[in-house]
Order: sequence, then C-alpha cells, then structure tokens
Amino acid sequence: MKSSINPYTQEKLYSFKELTTKQLKEKLQQSHECFLEWQETTFEQRSDLMNRAAKVLVENKTLYAETISKEMGKPISQAVAEIEKCAWVCEYYADKAKDQLKDEIIETDAQKSYVSYEPLGIILAVMPWNYPFWQVFRFAAPNLMAGNVGVLKHASNVMKSAELIAEVFTEAGFPEGCFQNLIIGSDLVETVLENEWVKAATLTGSKPAGGSVAAIAGKHIKKTVLELGGSNALIVFEDADLDSTVKTCVQARFQNTGQSCIAGKRLLVHQNIMEEFVDLFIKQVRELKSGDPMDENTYIGTLAREDLAEDLEKQVLKSIEMGAKLLLGGKRNGSYYEPTVLTNVTEKMPIFKEETFGPAIGITAFQSDEEAIRFSNNSEFGLGVSLFTKDTEKALKLAPCFEEGAVFINELVKSDPRLPFGGIKISGYGRELSSHGIREFVNKKTVYLK
Ligand code: NDP
Repeated sequence: MKSSINPYTQEKLYSFKELTTKQLKEKLQQSHECFLEWQETTFEQRSDLMNRAAKVLVENKTLYAETISKEMGKPISQAVAEIEKCAWVCEYYADKAKDQLKDEIIETDAQKSYVSYEPLGIILAVMPWNYPFWQVFRFAAPNLMAGNVGVLKHASNVMKSAELIAEVFTEAGFPEGCFQNLIIGSDLVETVLENEWVKAATLTGSKPAGGSVAAIAGKHIKKTVLELGGSNALIVFEDADLDSTVKTCVQARFQNTGQSCIAGKRLLVHQNIMEEFVDLFIKQVRELKSGDPMDENTYIGTLAREDLAEDLEKQVLKSIEMGAKLLLGGKRNGSYYEPTVLTNVTEKMPIFKEETFGPAIGITAFQSDEEAIRFSNNSEFGLGVSLFTKDTEKALKLAPCFEEGAVFINELVKSDPRLPFGGIKISGYGRELSSHGIREFVNKKTVYLK
C-alpha cells in the first residue's frame, strides 16, 4: 500500500494498492499495443493532443496545485507556477517536435544520406516528489511527441499527483496506454526494466536510486538518462550588483523550500564584500514567510517528509560542530525546518561537501577568481553554477573553467523547455528539454543511398 501523508498536518490523505506482477505485465502489454499504433501517428495528430493536455492542465490547475501542496508541502503559489510550466513544456514540444526530429541530411559520397529519428517503444520514468508534476511532464511531453509511450513509477509519497497526471493525458484524448501510471515500489522496477518492450529509462532522484536503475538497465543493454541532484555554487564577485544579486541568491536557495536539484546550495562571496552582502542576505531571508502551504502568502512550506528535515538538521549541526557559525535559523519542528544561514563554512563541512535538500545555506569567503573556481569545482556534483558580476565579458571567459552542465551569469540556474538541462559528475548524464532532450530516446538511424 502506498500512502500520501500531508507533511504539514500529518493527515493521511490517500492510499493506493500496489499492482501485482500480473497486473504490471498487463499494463506493459497495453502500453506496447498502444505504441504499435502511436508510432504511426503524424506530428500534427500528436501536437493536437499535446496542446489539449496543456489546456487540461490550465483548466484544472487549482486542483493539481492543491494536490501537490497537500502531498508534499509546497507553497500553493509555487505549485500553481509548477502547473503553468507543465503547460508551457507541452505547448513547446507540440510546436517544435516536428522540426527537432526531421531527417537530418548529411552530405557524403552517397546520392543521399541522412539520419532519421525514430521512436523506440516504452520508456520508463522513475520520478521524485519535489516537483511532482513538472518532473513528469518534462519527460512525457518530448517522449510522446517523439512517438514513444511512457510509463511512470512515481515517488511513493505523491501517488495522487501521479494518478492525476495520467488523467491529464486521458482527458486530453491520448489513446489508452500512451501514458500509464504504475503504482509500484522500487522493488518492481527491475521487472519493468527486464520487459522486452521497455526500451529505456530516465530517473530523477538520488545517487543510490540512479545507480541502481542504471545498473539494472545496463544489464539488459537499455539506455538511461540520470538527473541526480547537485550542489550548485552561487559565486558573488566583488563587482556584483548587490541588490539584484541578493534577491536572486535568496530565491535560488529558498524557492521550493530548498528542495531542488538546481538550487544554489553553496554561497561563495568575495571577502571584500562579505560583510555588506551577508547583512543584506540575512535581512531578506528573515523576511521569507513560513507557514501553511495552502496559504497564498507562504513562501517556505514544510519539507516533503520528516526524515528529509532530520537529514538536513544533522548536516547543519555537524557543520556547526566543525566550526561553522549559525547566523539564522537552525531549528526543526517535525517536517518544518527554519530558513538557516551559516558562515565561516569550509570545504570539509557537510553543508559544503554534501547535497543539502532544504532551506539551509553555507557561506564561504574567497579571495580570487582562481579560488572561487576551485571552491566551486570542489564538489562531486556538476549540475550548474551561477556567477554574479558586472564584468560579463570576464564571466563568459570563465565559463569553460567550471565542471558543470550549466553556467548562468547574473541569474539563478533554472530549467527552460528551450534549453538543455542535465549534469556531469555524480549529477548524472544525458540531457532533458530542448532538441537535446527529445533526441535522447530515439533511434538515430543512418540511411545511405549509393
Ligand atoms: P530517491 O532517489 O530515493 O527517490 C526518487 C525516486 O526514485 C522515487 O520514485 C523512488 O521511489 C525511486 N527509487 C528509490 N530507490 C530506488 C531504487 N533502488 N530503484 C528504483 N527506484 C528507486 O529520493 P528520496 O526521496 O529518498 O530523497 C533523498 C535525496 O535524494 C534528497 O535528499 C536529494 O538529495 C535527492 N533527490 C534529488 C532530486 C532531484 O531533483 N535530483 C529529487 C528528489 C530527491 P520510492 O519513493 O518508492 O522510494
């Protein structure tokens, strides 16, 4: 049985009976049968349906957003924004997929040679709870447009969201089996992956989950895309515009109550502006309103589960024990964790070394560009980095020095359907979104006519 528990009220909301192995196989059979017809549909037919999915999302956004807030504690205004972004990614691929997947002519000695992009079959998505709708739509929109069909194994604590997502596609008119929600635990993921009709998998989540799914998929020679989190640095150079930088850094760390893979998790500040920066930063963090996730004015909700808040608490306490100075916050109440700021943070502390998945940030001073780059790269993760400076020419010159999937200048790292998204190192591999994302799970077929 999978249950959703409201992390703010502790109320048990929904229970879902897990699929038996037999029911799971029947669902995969249905997906396969759907694929055989779906792959023959035109881009125009798929676009019509995908645009309708966008409409269904917008029409029902209150219901979907409230479900997100109740299941995992996201403040309602941020949940509404999440649904709107899902509609955007549907519209984006409805418009662009045909062009992104058109035959690519390559001049050779042949009369004609080209690459065609053909669908593979069933793609498994193993998804997390932090953006329960967005993580799924950014997988589903490109893949259904490419002619694949999708099956979802969602996080156990957001199964109502998973059910509603599947209903979006049904209501939009997609054929039965085109997108299915599988109510299963991680123990049945292997059964899905070894099924002959399941051709690939994408996972967003932790390193152990990603490593396990990739190992099973590897055993069956099936491709994976992994998006496993990050520990992005926010680098504030001496000449940064402080007002806008502070505002962006606060948002980068604290939106979604800090539970985002691309959140800015390590704040690196030039020593000459440290005092002024920290004063402004603390002032703004203090103003963030914590409270009931269902309240429009709440900015900081609870963490999605109490164990996640406990983990964060341990990371902060250990860092303080190692010499970090607590400037703000540091207290936990159930699954709520206060917005927390630490200074005097060194590279060995958990708040620097590990991924912190919640509203806590450590600040470290640097003295030179070289040191900032070294600090930033001193991480197992490689998802993204933000640079704040008025010298944009310098920032562009520094961009190749960072071991990251993305460098954003004077902006927080954010996902955008038009731009590729993904990491290196233990942040994973492969890309989502944009033309790069839609080409991850297709057969890039070479055709040669002598
Ligand atoms: P997990 O990585 O455990 O969960 C993410 C998804 O993977 C869920 O659907 C989960 O299912 C599934 N999963 C877990 N283990 C396996 C496995 N062995 N085989 C197949 N599927 C599996 O994340 P947690 O919820 O435990 O969060 C822990 C940490 O993970 C966070 O603190 C954060 O560091 C990171 N994380 C990163 C995210 C990101 O956006 N990159 C998102 C969420 C978490 P089930 O729920 O049934 O266990």
